[in-house]
Amino acid sequence: MNFNYYMPVRIFCGRDCLVKNVDYISSFGKRAIVVTGKSSAKNGALADIASAFEKAGIKYCVFDRVMPNPTAENVREGGSAARRFGADFVVAAGGGSPMDAAKVIARLAKGDAEDVFSLGGAAAEDVLPMIHIPTTAGTGSEVTPYAILTDRVQETKRNVSSPAFFPRAAFLDGKYLRGIPHDTAVYTAIDAVSHAMEGMLSVRAGALSDTLAKESLHMISSEFSSLTADALTDEGRDRLLYAAALAGMVIANTGTCAVHSMGYSLTYEHGAPHGRANGLLLPDFLAVCEERSPERGGQILGAFGCKNAFGLKELFRPLLGGREQIGDDLLRKYAKRAAANKNISNCIVRFDEEDLFRVLKSAVGK
Ligand code: NAP
Ligand code: ZN
Repeated sequence: MNFNYYMPVRIFCGRDCLVKNVDYISSFGKRAIVVTGKSSAKNGALADIASAFEKAGIKYCVFDRVMPNPTAENVREGGSAARRFGADFVVAAGGGSPMDAAKVIARLAKGDAEDVFSLGGAAAEDVLPMIHIPTTAGTGSEVTPYAILTDRVQETKRNVSSPAFFPRAAFLDGKYLRGIPHDTAVYTAIDAVSHAMEGMLSVRAGALSDTLAKESLHMISSEFSSLTADALTDEGRDRLLYAAALAGMVIANTGTCAVHSMGYSLTYEHGAPHGRANGLLLPDFLAVCEERSPERGGQILGAFGCKNAFGLKELFRPLLGGREQIGDDLLRKYAKRAAANKNISNCIVRFDEEDLFRVLKSAVGK
């Protein structure tokens, strides 16, 4: 029962929650930059934002150039658009990529920075207020203080985080997820599973984060067969979106562990979508955790309805496409990189470089 837990994001959840809460949005300011990718113009999110802004008399510009796994150059471009427009708040609509980019853009709106990776720990007064609208049910970025950016110099993905990167509000409306490609829906749900499970393995886990994680796993597992059969109902999408936010609330307080550290290399070097990368690694990572901490491993896997890590691997295997077959030299490089990441010491089970290599080898080795 010893824990501390922080969650400063106001959450609106339900059908049409954005347009139903125009009065609340009006309090953010008069000029907004909408940070997004291309899909929000098709899934209804951008149309709802436009309609809410029109009702509230808010002027806005749209920066819709956020790429998947955004780079430093990409967010600096967004920052300069925000400065040119004189935005006084930021609305992010999209998956984790636009939502993460928006956090750094909210800081760059107040002044450019050559090294965006130095913006971790940004002060609250240097970051514009943000509203986040997730259109994938996965990252939970709408309730976390993290922005994950691609670093082309260090050749990996890096976490830029600050308590000031918590959005002020998140609007969860599953209707935006109706046209999501099936593989994206599956990968993003697996990302949320990974967040809940890694959160439960964190040294910072506590009674409250465990409750959120177990509820998230329970909800995702109850929708998993519909999800994999591409037969989700509107209610199912709402539940997955909510479950992903719960898992985000977990990692906002616990952080992630080695699965995310290793997964960054699969994304950076092999183009594996974030959730798919985690899905490839999670079962083999859990197999080690189960061996070294059987009670905790059993609780985590049981919360998702799996008997053991092998059961999870069988469940994920058909969903992840052709498995990469990566040679030992590269896997050793990725293990070394992951071992240097601070997420490693965040886990109750100790993983050294050799352990990480073994997990990688078993998951994606030749
Ligand atoms: P994403 O990169 O945001 O989106 C994946 C693809 O799905 C994009 O092509 C996107 O198109 C499309 N898409 C998004 N919503 C859609 C919808 N409703 N309908 C149709 N297509 C849609 O993927 P993601 O998995 O949500 O986010 C991954 C990123 O988040 C990674 O960079 C990862 O490192 C980061 N992440 C952050 C946190 C955190 O706490 N901050 C946690 C985990 C992961 P458009 O973008 O063109 O619209
Ligand atoms: Zn993730």
